[in-house]
Amino acid sequence: MRPLAIFGGTFDPVHIGHLRAAWEASEALGADVYLVPAKVPPHRPQPVASAEQRAAMLQVALAGQQRLRLDLRELHREGPSYTFDTLTSLRTEIGNSRPLVLLIGADAFAGLSSWHRWQALFDLAHMCVLTRPAQVPAMPEALAAEVAPRLVEHVDRLRSEPAGRVLNMVVTSLGISATRIRNLLAAGAEPRWLVPDALLADPVLLEPYRRAAGA
Ligand code: ATP
Repeated sequence: MRPLAIFGGTFDPVHIGHLRAAWEASEALGADVYLVPAKVPPHRPQPVASAEQRAAMLQVALAGQQRLRLDLRELHREGPSYTFDTLTSLRTEIGNSRPLVLLIGADAFAGLSSWHRWQALFDLAHMCVLTRPAQVPAMPEALAAEVAPRLVEHVDRLRSEPAGRVLNMVVTSLGISATRIRNLLAAGAEPRWLVPDALLADPVLLEPYRRAAGA
């Protein structure tokens, strides 16, 4: 059955690293992918751009293709953006048999055992850990023990079961981070070819980061 995958983050701002990783996972899994911006990320400092500004950048970045879509459910919910709540609401929408996949970068996955109700996430979805070539995520003991019996080698296992498996997927390594892009903009430089051209072409979308420099 065609899986539904989600890729969450602050997207402050969205960049080519996010988009390429989500695209490759979507193609490999044969999945629709929802990009889900967090309103109030529980695990990190608050974003520079507002939730509305980050959603607007994603909307512009995703124009012209159907594979990756914007999902605003975390922005419409009060309080911290827990992945547990997001997966629960998606599971309710799609029913119990369609595969649901959480796409997650290896760095974020290594911290999973500090997330709200982290063990219950495996009851709701598969985890597809996006790794760079030769990168083996270091995991705390509790997470490694949870993951070991769930590990699968092939995407077919994620397509034939609704939840509960962990797959490491190697995606093109693009050493791009939103932090670097914010720093470039704050220094008056242009992050051309690190973000979609459409973001640079728009006169206001990247302004929050340029303004942050003068704050
Ligand atoms: P920041 O620099 O502000 O921490 P970021 O670029 O890491 O931001 P996030 O919004 O925090 O972006 O990340 C959302 C998701 O995208 C996470 O799962 C993260 O691991 C993943 N990710 C971030 N950058 C890349 C990249 N260059 N390639 C693949 N995945 C990435």
